[in-house]
Amino acid sequence: MVSITSKVATFKNYINNEWVESSSTKLLDSISPMNKNEVVGRVQNSTQEDIEKAVQAAHKAQVNWRKIGQHARGQFLFKVANILESRIDDIAETMTREMGKTLPEAKGETARGVAILRYYAGEGMRKNGDVIPSSDSEALMITKRVPVGVVGIVTPWNFPVAIPIWKLAPALVYGNTVIFKPATEAAVTAAKVIECFSEAGLPEGVLNFITGSGSIIGQGIIDHPQVNAITFTGSETVGKGVLKSTAERGIKSQVEMGGKNPVIVAKDADLDKSVEAVISGAFRSTGQKCTATSKVIVEADIYETFKEKLVQETEKITVGNGLNDGIWMGPCASESQFNTVKSYIEIGKEEGAQLISGGEVLHGEEYDNGFYITPAIFENVKLDMRIAQEEIFGPVIALIKVADIHEAIQAANDTKYGLSASIFTSNIASFLKFSDEIEAGLVRVNAESAGVELQAPFGGMKGSSSGSREQGEAAQEFYTEIKTIFIKG
Ligand code: NAP
Ligand code: MG
Repeated sequence: MVSITSKVATFKNYINNEWVESSSTKLLDSISPMNKNEVVGRVQNSTQEDIEKAVQAAHKAQVNWRKIGQHARGQFLFKVANILESRIDDIAETMTREMGKTLPEAKGETARGVAILRYYAGEGMRKNGDVIPSSDSEALMITKRVPVGVVGIVTPWNFPVAIPIWKLAPALVYGNTVIFKPATEAAVTAAKVIECFSEAGLPEGVLNFITGSGSIIGQGIIDHPQVNAITFTGSETVGKGVLKSTAERGIKSQVEMGGKNPVIVAKDADLDKSVEAVISGAFRSTGQKCTATSKVIVEADIYETFKEKLVQETEKITVGNGLNDGIWMGPCASESQFNTVKSYIEIGKEEGAQLISGGEVLHGEEYDNGFYITPAIFENVKLDMRIAQEEIFGPVIALIKVADIHEAIQAANDTKYGLSASIFTSNIASFLKFSDEIEAGLVRVNAESAGVELQAPFGGMKGSSSGSREQGEAAQEFYTEIKTIFIKG
């Protein structure tokens, strides 16, 4: 299934249960952000013709996959979970090489993938409808959830195992067949995840995997008339395009986009815990989580003390190759991400904010070919500055000083996004007010802004999302349609 050309592994598309080359016969290199001279693997640069084959396979597989039943579909996912679990070390190492997050984080994410698979495998044995009392006492009225059909899945590079799985697993267990296009930056990791599905022996055509450019393969899947629903996670620009295209076609879509996630540190917060949580939320995964902390809003009474501790602890962070022991933060995931972060550091300075820590490109043998930058903290940030409004998707904190909780919540809501938000406080009234007034899909109290549990609904408000929710039971809403069935004897 994996052919080796020179020392670099090449990964094929997976269509109708076969690993096949693209009709283009062209390949795309996946480059390591730790060393731009290292090609982690090569994937197919697919074409419209490949999409056509994948869609036809998924379409044809629909009938039997529906018929086999939810329980049997769940059993497949248990098998995939076991295979993925046995490959955690290899897949996590590939993830670290390919997009730079540290090995412990990559292992944690892969283990989460296993847990998500088991959760949705269990869905195979849970209810898929309700009984509703009819006005006719001799009739039975029920609802039954049925699959949507062929689902197109398009994912980003920042969680290359967890995000594909939190879409694939519910899509499959509820009876849909799938065409999956991963982010090119993390396509090798995604191919290894698909190998686990393939080894579990899914029936032909149920899961199809094709790699290639977003604008050709992503858009091609979205526009294909035989694809019945699209689930997308990625940037706001592309996400809005997905919403437009799917609205024109009148099909179901689910779109999760960016964030500008605030953390409020109230004057009665536990300072050590809030500093630790802000650092973890802002800088783990090099700030490249959609739920990463990027605006830190601090009450004036404790501002100076908090800032000092934050800078002191941030400066202890070890940046380097995520495969090495003792490294806390890896590089930016790609050259373009690296350039974006560097440009926002300059924008922040030009706007008049003060860079009080980090934001430096690292040089030296270990760093020169990678995309390494130290975690950055700005202060004197005004709410209308670009670094306070735009998603940077890198290790940059904007510190904002406010007079009180009221002003803090206003500052937190002053963004077009609404994914995640947290508050550190020991005052019940403050966290009640916060959880009531904050405009975010994920509301966290005395916990970092990043971090979600797979059994709970996940998704944003405002410009972060199309409004539907993923994960937990909420996923059923998107991946099924409801039939209301009235039965009279
Ligand atoms: P992206 O550039 O929007 O790419 C996401 C996916 O869309 C990739 O597979 C990409 O393919 C594809 N794509 C690109 N252009 C396309 C087009 N014109 N039509 C259809 N598909 C297209 O996002 P990213 O840089 O990978 O990921 C970072 C973003 O994801 C951030 O904004 C982050 O906040 C967001 N994110 C959100 C969540 C959430 O749940 N809210 C979770 C994680 C990440 P290529 O890779 O081939 O370009
Ligand atoms: Mg890469």
